[in-house]
Amino acid sequence: MEGMLKPGSLKDRTIIITGGGTGLGRSMGKYFLELGANLVITSRKKDVLDKSADELMKETGGKVLAVTCDVRKYEEIDNVIKTTEATFGQIHGVLNNAAGNFISPTERLSHRAFDIVVDIVLKGTYYTTLAAGKNWIEKKQPGVFLNIVTTYAWTGSGYVVPSACGKAGVLALTRSLAVEWAKYKIRSNAIAPGPFPTEGAWSRLLPGELVEKFDPAQRVPLKRVGEHQELANLAAYLMSDYSAYVNGEVITIDGGEWLRNGGEFSHLETIPETMWDMIEKGRGK
Ligand code: NAP
Repeated sequence: MEGMLKPGSLKDRTIIITGGGTGLGRSMGKYFLELGANLVITSRKKDVLDKSADELMKETGGKVLAVTCDVRKYEEIDNVIKTTEATFGQIHGVLNNAAGNFISPTERLSHRAFDIVVDIVLKGTYYTTLAAGKNWIEKKQPGVFLNIVTTYAWTGSGYVVPSACGKAGVLALTRSLAVEWAKYKIRSNAIAPGPFPTEGAWSRLLPGELVEKFDPAQRVPLKRVGEHQELANLAAYLMSDYSAYVNGEVITIDGGEWLRNGGEFSHLETIPETMWDMIEKGRGK
């Protein structure tokens, strides 16, 4: 899978990615760098961030700033914004990608466990959005928000209920501010990825033998998981001026997974051709 956009499509753009040191955040960041962006990656683990920043700079030749930040702490986000401006000048885009999640029957969760996930996903996203948005508005600068949600932001899902609540809130935030802040030339969009293998998601959502028992690819009509570059292509497009008229949209990139699992008769894909022959005969012409 190759990069989709023209070289230089994000030249001299400064983009902050929360949770940018690992997984999908890192992959999207790498492509932004390849397209000429300056990158700021933030998360709680300094060692992980510093290692990723070094590797990304070596891999792409771009500039990466690593700033430790817990998105649940407003003053730490403010610090990311100030440090970014001191290093690169104007900020052009913010990718709200940091999240926490794990599987559990809801009745087994303490209220604190529920809080932790909702705080990272929802509070973390609206704190980051408020801090960056107020800064853009005050300085009369345009900006782009891109928020990573999930398809169960609108369907809901058992066993990941705090995450579903948080992501649904992030989607509401995306659509609300797309309208309210358009007058400031601030766009807001979201991406809802299906299964994309990452160490973080796989270890928390498919621990132990679950990965063999519930192969995520089998839930997808295309019978495969996503490639990171496919997501990076979409994210770069939504960050770039090519999507200047896309605002308030959530784009699903899941190989058809959520529609397949919502379709009442989708499971009939398991019926073999010979059985379809019999069914057709039984129905008569
Ligand atoms: P990941 O590698 O575990 O990414 C999560 C990131 O969030 C980590 O870098 C983590 O870093 C950071 N983070 C967690 N708590 C934080 C906090 N309080 N403050 C700041 N950063 C924090 O998993 P991923 O699969 O790449 O997920 C990335 C995004 O894609 C998430 O929004 C996830 O919901 C979404 N998504 C993923 C999939 C998939 O199949 N992979 C599918 C749908 C949606 P630290 O631990 O260092 O803080």
